Amino acid sequence: MVISQPQQKAKIGPTKLLINNEWVESSSGKRFETINPATGEVICDVAQADALDVDKAVIAARTAFTSGDWPQMSATKRGELLYKLADLIEKNIEELARLETLDNGKPLKDSLNADLPLTIACYRYYAGWADKVQGKTIPINGPYFCYTRHEPVGVVGQIIPWNFPLLMQAWKLAPALAMGNTLVLKTAEQTPLSAFRLGELVMEAGFPPGVVNILSGYGPTAGAAISYHNDIDKVAFTGSTEVGHLIMEASAKSNLKRVTLELGGKSPNIVFADADMDAAVEGSHFALFFNQGQCCCAGSRLFVEEKCYDEFVAKSVERAKRRMVGDPFIERVEQGPQVDQEQFNKVMSYIESGQQDGAQMLCGGSRVGDRGYFIAPTVFADVQDHMKIAQEEIFGPVMSIIKFKDIDELVKRANNSIYGLAAGVWTQDVNKAHTIAHRLRAGTVWVNCYDVFDAAAPFGGFKQSGIGRELGEYGLQQYTEIKTVTIKM
Ligand code: NAP
Ligand code: MG
Repeated sequence: MVISQPQQKAKIGPTKLLINNEWVESSSGKRFETINPATGEVICDVAQADALDVDKAVIAARTAFTSGDWPQMSATKRGELLYKLADLIEKNIEELARLETLDNGKPLKDSLNADLPLTIACYRYYAGWADKVQGKTIPINGPYFCYTRHEPVGVVGQIIPWNFPLLMQAWKLAPALAMGNTLVLKTAEQTPLSAFRLGELVMEAGFPPGVVNILSGYGPTAGAAISYHNDIDKVAFTGSTEVGHLIMEASAKSNLKRVTLELGGKSPNIVFADADMDAAVEGSHFALFFNQGQCCCAGSRLFVEEKCYDEFVAKSVERAKRRMVGDPFIERVEQGPQVDQEQFNKVMSYIESGQQDGAQMLCGGSRVGDRGYFIAPTVFADVQDHMKIAQEEIFGPVMSIIKFKDIDELVKRANNSIYGLAAGVWTQDVNKAHTIAHRLRAGTVWVNCYDVFDAAAPFGGFKQSGIGRELGEYGLQQYTEIKTVTIKM
């Protein structure tokens, strides 16, 4: 159901590139438009960085890494700057949440209650770590004194997607800065605005010039220039598995920069008949439909035990029909538009393929309204493992419910994917919960819950869902080089 009401606007911040603590136009002078996905209308245009701008940003970042205040700064002081940034985000939470909703289309309620609080918590968490990462003294053989230092990797390139723009920025910036790196971040073409506003806050917090550089631009140009750059020491990427392959290839073909990847998924979410059925229905609904289905860890292969299959399907369809779709600025709305026309088309083509493959579409399946990129919450039952909708990442509000009978067979089927990002298990049997959690090949397993994120808990993928981990203490390792110092006594 769509509620039409005039869009409430947000205040637009900077639209130029942030290089060396200055807002500058792109070298080419080119700009590109960012769209409000709820209306399809242009919000504004922003500077379009290409390889030359990446070069300029890398020079600024390299200079800041080797000279000036940053390399001299104590770890405690770096932490203080991060705390200050977190405070400034909190002070501007409403404005940032509105900007995120305007550019991305996610419900304002979600921006305010999920994206922003998690962003702030991430900065605070890593602020605390800044002066608590230390090396070891190691008793090696002979008359030597040996110790390790945890040093920053150097200049880091970071490329983020559009589904959680501010949160992905925090996951990238916070650990990198805590460890003393400098960085060049490229936002996704669909959602450049909130990162730029955050750039203003980075400067207000007092980070020295060149430490944080923020570019808007396209993947094949600006993104590729980052991944191929010979003076970037590491690249951290979140996005599609397809581009993940390109990032690794670029590293191999350039300077073997370190690579961490957080990629796609097709996460199994498993419901046993002994589960609290209402909690499982609501939790699985959230696991799939949250953020318009645009989550890398969406529980998009929903395996339901035969004994409770019919009941679960009926309740899930009833819940999906009740899902409130509409203007993301309205309080009651649970689901906004998909991020752009391309994603809208892609999701619609998966819906078509599900029908062609013979899955049973029980609700949704169509566009909602006549402008913007809204799609009705869609549920397919009788989905078979071989169908495209059970194998490929849809990244939209499309639930695929699959039947299972036997546990061993289930584990095999759940693990039969090129992905391994996350999984869910719903059961009241504690033995079953642990057993299944251990047997699933996935970076995160949620039991009787889903999408529980915390800055302290690592997140990342097995198999083609990625390399390395973000968040937690493990996330810090990706931003340090270990140096061994040995002294003859
Ligand atoms: P994508 O192309 O992987 O975009 C992610 C980021 O990578 C964007 O900043 C993008 O720039 C950049 N990029 C694109 N091509 C690049 C290249 N050759 N070299 C370096 N960087 C490059 O993802 P998408 O096209 O936005 O979405 C496609 C699909 O990816 C979705 O349908 C979904 O399945 C998946 N996805 C996954 C996640 C996740 O969280 N794991 C997030 C978003 C999308 P642009 O701004 O120009 O695109
Ligand atoms: Mg946009």
